[in-house]
Parts: sequence; C-alpha cells; structure tokens
Amino acid sequence: MPKSPTLTFLGAAGEVTGSCTLLETEHARILVDFGLFQGAPSQEQRNAVAPPIDFRRLSAVVCTHAHIDHCGRLGMLARLGYDGLVFCTEPTATLLPMVLRSSANLQKVRLEEHRDGTGPDAVVLDPAPDPAVVAAQQRLEDPPVLYTKGDAERVSRGIVGVPYGAWRDIAPGVRMRLHDAGHIIGSASVEFEVVHGASRVRIVFSGDIGPAGESYLAARGHAPAADVVVMESTTGARAHGAPAPDVDGTLRKVVEDCRHGRRTAVLPTFSVGRAQVLVHHLARLAREGVLEDIPVYLDSPMAIRAAELCVQHPSLLSSSARAMIGAGHSPFDFDSLHCLWSRKHSLRVAGREGAGIVLAGSGFCDAGPVLHHLENALGHDRGYVVFTGYVLPGSLAESLAEGTARRVRINGTEMDVRARITRLHGLSGHADAPQMCEWLAGSGHSPSVVVLNHGDEAARTGMEARVQSVVSSSVAKPAISQTINLA
Ligand SMILES: [Zn+2]
Repeated sequence: MPKSPTLTFLGAAGEVTGSCTLLETEHARILVDFGLFQGAPSQEQRNAVAPPIDFRRLSAVVCTHAHIDHCGRLGMLARLGYDGLVFCTEPTATLLPMVLRSSANLQKVRLEEHRDGTGPDAVVLDPAPDPAVVAAQQRLEDPPVLYTKGDAERVSRGIVGVPYGAWRDIAPGVRMRLHDAGHIIGSASVEFEVVHGASRVRIVFSGDIGPAGESYLAARGHAPAADVVVMESTTGARAHGAPAPDVDGTLRKVVEDCRHGRRTAVLPTFSVGRAQVLVHHLARLAREGVLEDIPVYLDSPMAIRAAELCVQHPSLLSSSARAMIGAGHSPFDFDSLHCLWSRKHSLRVAGREGAGIVLAGSGFCDAGPVLHHLENALGHDRGYVVFTGYVLPGSLAESLAEGTARRVRINGTEMDVRARITRLHGLSGHADAPQMCEWLAGSGHSPSVVVLNHGDEAARTGMEARVQSVVSSSVAKPAISQTINLA
C-alpha cells in the first residue's frame, strides 16, 4: 500500500493568521504558505518558534499571495535550512521580495525602538482598558527578529513566478497549477495533483478568496473539481443578506465633508489590496469631477508599487479598470493624487490644514505613518478619521471605530478624542460566506472532504453549516499541528 498523502496544519488553524500547511506524499513534502502570526505580542512571539518539521527535506514551497499572514515567515526559510524554490504567480513573484525586505527592515526597527523605548505608541486611556487586554498587549520580551534583509534576499533568489492556469511539475509525483483568487493582485488558489499508487488525488487550497462583484480586479472563477478542498473561512460568522453598501456614494459624502468643513480625512489603509480599491474608487470620482480641488495623499510606498504592478498586468484587472487604461488613464492615478515616498513628506502632510484625504498605512493603526496623521487629527474638532475595514479586537482602532475611545495617547501625545470618526463599509477583500459557498459549489463536484482553516472557531462553525448545505462533503476543522489523511 502506498503511503496516504497527508496535510498537517501548522498555522491559521482556528485563527486568522500564521497560514502554514504541510502536504506530504510518499515522495514529496510541500509547504503551502508560511505567514506571520499577528496581533498581541504573545501571538508575535509564536513566530520565533519554527514549525516542528525538517525544512532541509522540503521538496518545494508554494505561496498563495503576498499578504504578510500568508508569506511573512518565508524570509526564515534560508535560516531554517531550505534553499529550494518558492512557487507563486508572476505578480506575487514581483511583490514578495519587496514585502520580505520591508518586513525584515520593520523587525530590525522594532527591536531597536523597543530597546531604546521609542516604539510606536497607540493607547486608549479613557475608558481605561481591560487589565487582561493590557497584560496581553504588554511586551515583556524583545520583539523577535526572524530574518534580516540578507536572509530575505537569499530566499527571494528562489522565487519562481508561474503563469495562471499552467500545470507545473514541482516535486516527484506532484504537479500544481494556480487559479486567480480575486483577492489582491497576484492572489491564487492552488490546485495540486498528487500521484498515489495507480490513482491521482486532487487537493485545492483556496488561499484568500476575493469578493464577487465590482472591483479593480477581474472576476475570479470557482473552485476546480477536487477530492480535498482546504478553504478559508474568515467570513463564516458574519451576517449577510444586506444590500451591498454604496461605496462611491459614501466616498462622495466624505469628499463633501472635507470640502465644506475644510477637513482632512485620514483613512487607515492596508497597502496591498485596500489601498488599490480606494484609489480606484477615487480615480473614478476624479474622472467625474467630484474631487476637483481636493488633494489625495497616498502615504505608503508599498501601495504605490502594488498599483504600478496592477497596471503592468491589465489582463488581471476588471473591465472598468481596463477601460480606463484603454482611454489613456490609469485606474490608480488622477491629477490630485500625490504619492508620498518619504517620512519627511508624510510629516509635512500630517501638519497641513484644509480639505484633503490621506490614505496611510497601517490599516491596524498600530504602527506606520497613520500614527502621526492620527496624532494630528484626533484631538481637533476639524479632525476626521474614516475606517475602511476590519479592526483588530482590543486595539486602538477598534475603540476609535466603535466610538468608545474618549481619551488616547499617540506617540506620547495625550488628547481627548474630538475628531469626527466614521466607517466606510463594503470594501472587504474577502468573499462573504455565501460567496465562498458559491465558489466551492461552482465546480459542480462534491469533494470528499472540505477542510476549514483561516478562520476563528465561530467563523469555522458558521461556515461548516453553510458548506454542508451546498455540497455533500464531510467537513474537517483541524487543530494546530493536526494531521489529516487524504486517501
Ligand atoms: Zn490575504
């Protein structure tokens, strides 16, 4: 009897960060994603403990997309003894070296700042936070430095971009092809075909799946037919059925509020994905003359590069984005857009007065240029902050977005929260639960097993019920380190 292929879940099992799964066959061992655990310092310390596998014996590594919770530990591969190839899509092959270099630099800076006491500071003072939350967020140990820029560059030399849809032999008895997942530029679902005795087993990893409907990205397809589907369940617990929010309408209102109130709106923004969605919406409004005299500042070099990459791959963009390119316009540029490449420019914009819009990283409001924009905005009646998506539970961003924070400290400055704060809905980069089920059922084939990962327990339980209503598969919800036999 040939040895059954197995999957071992080494991260994002019952949680939403640290994606990492080992696919083992009789002759090959393949790692799918190697992402950072994110959130409280106790979570981040988990990154320093390598998964209990022999990296020197890996046959190949595959990365679904360039978000840090899926790729952020790839920079450790060389140190852990793996010097082979990392397969991904062509756009991801361009993004990954930048993301890994930037992550290495951030780790170095965070350690230096922690040791000399100058680290980013973003705290709610009133209402006083729950002591248990404070204890969880307290960093007692040095933040881990997982890899250097040199390590990131060594790993980057092994990154191989594979065209969407093309089969590629990646290890003995294992071939793979990548499908557009519609989540960010270059995002992919991965389809493996594994030789098992006289038969073949098909295993699909969804990666993060993007929403259906209008976006700057081309419409994605559905899951390929497979024996086993490993599916993200991020949105499994969320309510659905509400009409899609009118993003352009809400952005028009933000623009009008800025113009009439002579306010600058600060939008905390993730660099790859959310920033491109927002700039694309704003570019369309600019073409309609809505922005006129309102300057928009994009304060994230990574976001600027990701937008350039989108334009270099027009076949991956939506028809509306392609139409703009066809008419000689960029879907991610307009006259009043200013890209900020340096901290000096960023600080100058943070101190400005008058109408404007600033898109600044990070989206979690725990570090990056968004902190000095918030420091300038939150204490003033004319300040204006617009949250555009998920906020980490227990974070400053959550307290601000929920409207509960009365007094805060940002980078050493204490202030009462006087700014106007709103939320802009409808920009999620993830398919909702019904859309995930449509993606799964779209193959017209029920897999033997659907494995739910990349979701907390409530999300996985919610998704399990939905999955069982559309396919006749059994559903597995593995715990961390659990191994599942596939044949
Ligand atoms: Zn993602």
